[in-house]
Amino acid sequence: MPSENFVCDICDKRCENLFIVNIQSRSVSLCGECFKKRDDPAMAAMVLEKERIKNEAYKKQKQSSRNVSQSFGPYNYPRSNYGRFSLGGLEREYINKYKLYYLFHFTHKNNIGFILEKGLLPKNQLAAGNNQYVSIADEEVQAKRANIEFNLMGRIRRALHDCVPLYISWRTPTLYRVLHKGDVKESDIVHILVNAYSVLKKNYCFTDGNAASIYTSQYVLIQNLDKLDWSVIKSDDWGGDNEKIRKKNAEFLVYPKVEVRDFYKLIVADQDAKEEIDTLLRSKNIKLEVEVDKRYYEWPKMY
Ligand SMILES: [Zn+2]
Repeated sequence: MPSENFVCDICDKRCENLFIVNIQSRSVSLCGECFKKRDDPAMAAMVLEKERIKNEAYKKQKQSSRNVSQSFGPYNYPRSNYGRFSLGGLEREYINKYKLYYLFHFTHKNNIGFILEKGLLPKNQLAAGNNQYVSIADEEVQAKRANIEFNLMGRIRRALHDCVPLYISWRTPTLYRVLHKGDVKESDIVHILVNAYSVLKKNYCFTDGNAASIYTSQYVLIQNLDKLDWSVIKSDDWGGDNEKIRKKNAEFLVYPKVEVRDFYKLIVADQDAKEEIDTLLRSKNIKLEVEVDKRYYEWPKMY
């Protein structure tokens, strides 16, 4: 079984996941241990120095080589582990193993018209386009997420806010919080179920928990779905336990967007919401199933 083979820029340790710190022109890749210490003055100085060295090496390389396209970013990935098309059979196997047929995104129903036209866009694109998008996200959490970057399948690196987040589970703690803040009603929330197969054909990574948490690991190889805590993901029994809350929010991050043709169906809380969305779909001539399913809004074990 292939294992991921990244090397920490600071301690040279081989590790499965890297955390990326962006300074100016170059990024520095840290293992989990070094990442946790990134705010220590000594560590911060080492990171800064590493960035300077990388930047110089990059400039030299650019001058000396005409074939810049061969150098992808600051590190060399083991190519053989990244043959995304050779993983087709494995992807199928793992989707079946965890019954991961679709992934979940929830949004305010006022956003559905826009989404049906443009697809699901990442936060950065929504901000740039000055859209009338109703954000139901926790802005404090969003600010934390703004500084995190990910290595994605296809060997590209993107900021979290350049990716579309899709939850692996329904009834996440995040949705629970949104619905219990008081200003968002169940009937305002539309769930978009996205075909997992479509996602796996894009650039993606997935996490074993809330992507904004420093305790969360990032993965690109589908076999690493085994590292997620499925006993938490498949259960509703996470109340009051921060580690379970983190794990239950495990997500896929998809770049650059999720198209409407990748949607499997929409879920709403009541018949009125269904009629509203159905009307919208008809006006745009889009065929997509809208289902009323209260289970998406309830936490049986939480009461
Ligand atoms: Zn390290």
